[in-house]
Amino acid sequence: MSEELVFQPSADAVARTRTTAEQYEALYRRSISDPDGFWREEAQRLDWMKPFTKVKNTSFEYPDVSIKWFEDGELNVSANCIDRHLATRADTVALIWEPDDPKDEARFITYRQLHEEVCRLANVLKAKGVKKGDRVTIYLPMIPEAAYAMLACARIGAVHSVVFGGFSPDSLSGRINDCGSKLVITADEGRRGGKAVALKANVDAALESCPGVETVLVVRNTGNAVAMKAGRDVWVADEAKAVSADCPPEPMNAEDPLFILYTSGSTGKPKGVLHTTGGYLVWVSLTHELAFDYKPGEIYWCTADVGWVTGHSYIVYGPLANAGTSLMFEGVPSWPDASRFWQVVERHKVNIFYTAPTAIRALMGAGAEWTEKNDLSSLRLLGSVGEPINPEAWLWYHKHVGKERCEIVDTWWQTETGGFMITPLPGAIPAKPGSATKPFYGVKPVVLSPEGRVQEQVKAEGVLAIADSWPGQMRTVYGDHERFVETYFSTYKGYYFTGDGCRRDADGYYWITGRVDDVLNVSGHRLGTAEVESALVAHPKVAEAAVVGYPHNVKGQGIYCYVTLMTGEGYDDALKDELKQWVRKQIGPIATPDLIQWAPGLPKTRSGKIMRRILRKVAENDYSNLGDTSTLADPGVVEHLVENRLNR
Ligand code: ATP
Ligand code: MG
Repeated sequence: MSEELVFQPSADAVARTRTTAEQYEALYRRSISDPDGFWREEAQRLDWMKPFTKVKNTSFEYPDVSIKWFEDGELNVSANCIDRHLATRADTVALIWEPDDPKDEARFITYRQLHEEVCRLANVLKAKGVKKGDRVTIYLPMIPEAAYAMLACARIGAVHSVVFGGFSPDSLSGRINDCGSKLVITADEGRRGGKAVALKANVDAALESCPGVETVLVVRNTGNAVAMKAGRDVWVADEAKAVSADCPPEPMNAEDPLFILYTSGSTGKPKGVLHTTGGYLVWVSLTHELAFDYKPGEIYWCTADVGWVTGHSYIVYGPLANAGTSLMFEGVPSWPDASRFWQVVERHKVNIFYTAPTAIRALMGAGAEWTEKNDLSSLRLLGSVGEPINPEAWLWYHKHVGKERCEIVDTWWQTETGGFMITPLPGAIPAKPGSATKPFYGVKPVVLSPEGRVQEQVKAEGVLAIADSWPGQMRTVYGDHERFVETYFSTYKGYYFTGDGCRRDADGYYWITGRVDDVLNVSGHRLGTAEVESALVAHPKVAEAAVVGYPHNVKGQGIYCYVTLMTGEGYDDALKDELKQWVRKQIGPIATPDLIQWAPGLPKTRSGKIMRRILRKVAENDYSNLGDTSTLADPGVVEHLVENRLNR
């Protein structure tokens, strides 16, 4: 259905855009044919302490992979995100903080205040002996202090590793030890959905197996009593009072590390992705500005957690580099009720709203009436990231949230890519529900056959790889360059391997079909999990679905579907038959599900992605060894699925 469905940019989007369709085509071509010239100019958007003379110095040649951008330039990320805005925008709000509980007060932090907070914290870090190149682990809830902590590290050249506040002590200690942090920044407690999260207690438990940690800086957040270990734990506020409110930004080489971040673990053990200074900031700042057509003064809200790359690139670094106003939300979409997101949109007159398909599907499951209670007229543009968005969820988002007025940008990218890779530019690239559309400047996607042949024709299907480097690319896996080279450059020599499958349609649009490891092979036909899932979600009673293969005597692989219904729908057998017929009609007989298991909940990573790896094990009736489950949000969901498995 969806390939033919095209949404032209609205007249408003065309009127305000800084990129027309023709400009996109021309600039894209130039970015590919003359990367040095293109990026030399684009990099001028940043303030350089020492101008670079070299632009691109990269090789994807296995095994000598090496990636350097702007390698002799110097700059500081925090100066670019704060100091340079002070002359003209000191009183502009940089961060809006919306608390978990709607009864509590929001906070508004101007660029001037941000400067002072970051400088003080940077001086506290220095006073505690943190030096350029040292790693600092940040384990904080969604409070402004998380952004201060990241920027304070950047200011003095320390490398931050943010660990999502929902992770257990074990996951935390593993990540602290992997990068060898001597200092951890945390809070007494966090809040989510009306419940307290015992962050400091988790740190205490984690540190039992982290002998290298000397200092814990604690932010007083809920104010509840927590244990403080003498000689190790100190309150940030007390320390910050004792230091200067000014801290000169450290000149950093463009290739000095900025942060380490572990991937979300959908496919296996998380990787410590390392990003550096210059190329990363050019990339996130340019992509943020163009994909959202962002202009300072607009209220921008990305609902991700700062513990994920989306929070790094598109709550903190991209928006602040662009002198933007970025909203940080401490809470969850479902508490106190399913209109919580829309209350926040109304309260702060949000113009740009960026979230994940998992949240959209959950809100869709709760019912459209929840979108009717608030004034959403401030919204101009909606974004999606994290998984392929099912066309049905896209249309729901468009109709009930965007009121058929807002542009939608579906941004495909990865922790490894630093920022957007395939995304529409509003006003320039028409949208197709379910497609991330076209490559961003400098991105050269190729579709490979499973054997690694480049599919030259426009209409093609296969493995998504990238043929050349872009400034925001990760540089290595921290402490394990060989793993970096093996993971991304050994399967298809000369290319960066994304791990995702895709289809390119006759218009040159890219459709992510799911992870390559998840592709189904049914009677010799290759089928993307995303396609079958989208067909199921298109049924009016289905809220969410996950599809995996399992060994099948006749077909090679059978299609095993886990289905969550809309709130209030009854789980009965007649509906299973109806759904099988439905998918058959939508895609074709080859895609007819063999087994449908009702799943009131699906196993997800803590960033909300479905872990098909685990579902595959259950479908294969091989559930004793589920692999790394440390990133699961709710282990209880798996037990329920195992108990009710169908292929015994
Ligand atoms: P791990 O690499 O540890 O298995 P992960 O791949 O989930 O975890 P991320 O870097 O957070 O870690 O996610 C990137 C992946 O998310 C992409 O490779 C792709 O599969 C999926 N993805 C992100 N955005 C989109 C999108 N707009 N459309 C389709 N898929 C997307
Ligand atoms: Mg990945």
